Amino acid sequence: MSRLVILDARLVDGSGELGRGDVVVEDGRIAALGEGVGAGVQADRTVLAGGRTLTPALIDLHAHLREPGQEVKEDLASGLAAAAAGGFGTVVSMANTSPVVDEPGLVADLVAKADALRVGGRGAARLRPAASLSHGLRGQALTDFAALQAAGAVMITDDGIPVADGRLMRSACEYARDLGLVVQTHSEDPSLRGDGVMNEGIVSQELGLPGNPTAAEAVMVARDCEVALLTGARVHIAHVSCKRAMQVIEHYKALGAPVTCEVTPHHLTLTDEALRSFDPVFKVAPPLRTADDVAYLRDAVRRGVVDSIGTDHAPHTRAEKELDLGSAPFGLPNIEVALPLLYTRLVLAGELGETDLLRLLQDGPAEVMGWPAPRLEVGAPADLVLIDLEDERAVEPERFRSKAKFSPWAGERLRGWPWLTLIDGEVAFEAPEAVV
Ligand SMILES: [Zn+2]
Repeated sequence: MSRLVILDARLVDGSGELGRGDVVVEDGRIAALGEGVGAGVQADRTVLAGGRTLTPALIDLHAHLREPGQEVKEDLASGLAAAAAGGFGTVVSMANTSPVVDEPGLVADLVAKADALRVGGRGAARLRPAASLSHGLRGQALTDFAALQAAGAVMITDDGIPVADGRLMRSACEYARDLGLVVQTHSEDPSLRGDGVMNEGIVSQELGLPGNPTAAEAVMVARDCEVALLTGARVHIAHVSCKRAMQVIEHYKALGAPVTCEVTPHHLTLTDEALRSFDPVFKVAPPLRTADDVAYLRDAVRRGVVDSIGTDHAPHTRAEKELDLGSAPFGLPNIEVALPLLYTRLVLAGELGETDLLRLLQDGPAEVMGWPAPRLEVGAPADLVLIDLEDERAVEPERFRSKAKFSPWAGERLRGWPWLTLIDGEVAFEAPEAVV
């Protein structure tokens, strides 16, 4: 039997504050918790939490881990280590790899490889892969959802590419509904988006860059919500970036459509003003919007309209991101800074409560997927993160576990860094500062 003891932590989960106490972990599960329960217990490892915050490990329903085929950008080992470093215990990987994850064999390979990475606590988060909606992301023929689900896929999505054909989206939703699978959308109308590289607005006009209007997103969100209403399928709208799209979601939620939605750390903290630098690190899809949009997204978060925060961690090589704005790929790496970024910019700024932020990274994503709410209780899996809410330090991309060692927030001083992450009771990450 393996045993790990955490002494003197502040215990918090989705049910609220649980006071200060110890946690005893045996064979991957919480065996005891509460004041004094760890005192004198013999363990393979004892962690002195010193009042730091212990909470269930975070869940990310949206990460690009790039394996198979794009390991130069990221692979399962680096991506899942980066996730653990960011405090995430479970990650849903996107299917827009090379080849696309559209066959059960590819799903099974990912599951097996990720499981092997966790043996012996080698520092990897738990992987729950998504599979693609269409073969090759070509938007023409549906994949075999039942076979993909049997192989371990937990979500169906063509994320990266919008499903342009409404009839295909309807068929996908009918099929997914019958299997109890969530369909995640990348809702942008391709014809309205055109070749836009940034938000269409005053800044794009001043810079003379092709713009992507909020209408492209709002229109497709409306179609996806209508299809959810029509079919009864569980549709999760990924990375909502603007006020208009969020208002559409509010409208359909009020109608009772089975729709949930996600926002990303970057859409909550950056605006299209950042593109004045012409730095392609700020090129994401959907694009960074205006300060008005960011304020509206934050308000939607506060009002409980937003179900989950997903990172949309999208690593690329530095060389790719040093191309000009027109040629550089969309996406930025953020899984290792998401928690401190949001804690500092939203919670410490007084815009959002700490437990509300945690809910969007724990209970929220679990509810979207129909998974049990992660809890600190006896018998629960020991997927835990110990967070240091006091220590302030700068974002140092060269320290990232991710292969993408650059960041829009490089040098920014943040608080709320993960100190120790346990997956199945094994240490998957510990901050260098935590090693005694
Ligand atoms: Zn996407």
